[in-house]
Amino acid sequence: MNAATNPASRTDVLANDLSTIRPANAAFLATPRRLLIDGAWVEAATGQTFEVRDPSSDRVIARVAQGERADIDRAVAAARRAFEGDEWSRMKPVEREKLLHRLADLIEARADELAELEAIDNGKSVVMARHVDLKHAIEVWRYMAGWPTKLEGQTLPISGTLVPGQEYVAFSQREPIGVVGAIIAWNFPLLLATWKIAPALAAGCTVVLKPAEETPLTALRLGELALEAGFPKGVLNIVTGMGPTAGAALAEHPGVDKITFTGSTEVGRLIVRAAAGNMKKVTVELGGKSPTIVLDDADAEAVIPGVAGAIFFNQGQVCCAGSRLYVAQRHFERILEGVSAQARAIKLGPGLDPNAQMGPLVSSTQRDRVMKYLGEGLEGGARATAGGRAVPAPGYYVEPTVFADVREDMSIVREEIFGPVLVVKPFDDLAEVARLANDTVYGLGASIWTRDVHKIFTLAPKLRAGTVWVNCHNVLDATMPFGGYKQSGWGRELGREAVYSYLESKSLCINFAA
Ligand code: ADP
Repeated sequence: MNAATNPASRTDVLANDLSTIRPANAAFLATPRRLLIDGAWVEAATGQTFEVRDPSSDRVIARVAQGERADIDRAVAAARRAFEGDEWSRMKPVEREKLLHRLADLIEARADELAELEAIDNGKSVVMARHVDLKHAIEVWRYMAGWPTKLEGQTLPISGTLVPGQEYVAFSQREPIGVVGAIIAWNFPLLLATWKIAPALAAGCTVVLKPAEETPLTALRLGELALEAGFPKGVLNIVTGMGPTAGAALAEHPGVDKITFTGSTEVGRLIVRAAAGNMKKVTVELGGKSPTIVLDDADAEAVIPGVAGAIFFNQGQVCCAGSRLYVAQRHFERILEGVSAQARAIKLGPGLDPNAQMGPLVSSTQRDRVMKYLGEGLEGGARATAGGRAVPAPGYYVEPTVFADVREDMSIVREEIFGPVLVVKPFDDLAEVARLANDTVYGLGASIWTRDVHKIFTLAPKLRAGTVWVNCHNVLDATMPFGGYKQSGWGRELGREAVYSYLESKSLCINFAA
């Protein structure tokens, strides 16, 4: 089989044409963006800014304030004042719901504009940005908007036998944790901001958000919309800047009550250590190396697009991407061939080209990282049945790649690549595939492709993963908790569990015989 190539023949068709973008986005990009602190847009204390690049062309498209420790200090102080201030802390739950819905309305009204900005900043397809990132973000805002009136506690039937003669009544109540620091990755910028901010605000917390330095733009637009919706000043603060400076300052800040992070397991470990200083609460959603498992009863032809989509969606820059494909022996050759053909047929192009099926990776660093893995795979003896190379263009494109003949000790099988790279391996029986699927330090997602109910309920309980999909992959919903076993993280995003992770539980015990 050929290691065929996908690149468009001319590099100019791989770059976005920014002359045609919406006037609102053109104006947004033309002005240096500032930090949102205490309801106002301010320069970084140092006056420094950094460049934001278009991944399709490597061109600078915007400049953004480079916040550092002093700015984080200011933002945390503002978030604390807002948390303790009457306007937010005394706001009735039904009013908080209204505000959250108002913000959802504003996002919805500007969804096309935000999707375009996301595509330019991140490199992803504008069509995907609109139909996945924006659609899901709006659903999450609306779902979370429903929570403030439903944060109930319980009446507790306590016996109170330790002090005889007294009579007690006890309740558990939910209270917001306080000031939340949120640090997020670049693969779904607006969506990840939403996953953190929406439940935190629904719970009554205040937030300091540190977006990824590669993709700060839609978070800053979200800040504008939050002000327009009418959130009190200081409830949402946004400090753009670098991870080791602004991010680290937020993670270790003694004025932050909870840190919530989405990113690599490596940085997740740093966050956990930094959080120990004041024992802040921690949620971390980290890396993955998720298996897709095709069982012997599956319809091979029907499965091929699904398992290809599981890895190639969003250029493979998805923490739960199905990056290890295990196929029952009888289907192995057909599915390897089918997935490789799909990979070769993917049309690469810039995010603003509505016909492009895969965009560039987010940064030159990420492209180099993926290329390092491709090199290691090829040197180690893996066979590329599709792709295997970078695309010679200024943008950060990598060919969608499929590797067969892989061994379990290879870095392409063991490590999270976060790019469009799939490894494919055959298996003989359920016991073997359960062992292979779990042979990883990660445990974020897994999918099983079968029509056999018995096999679903035999295999799913054996998989050490936070989400197990059947006949689908990467399906997320506002209601469905998402997070990892093992080194894929602590805690869950989305659903009831996300809201409760921003709440403290207080027991109220009343002696009414006193
Ligand atoms: P990636 O390696 O995919 O870029 P990271 O885990 O490095 O992902 O980044 C995710 C987020 O973590 C980004 O917002 C980044 O700025 C931030 N970050 C990176 N290093 C640190 C750090 N030492 N402390 C806090 N945040 C960090």
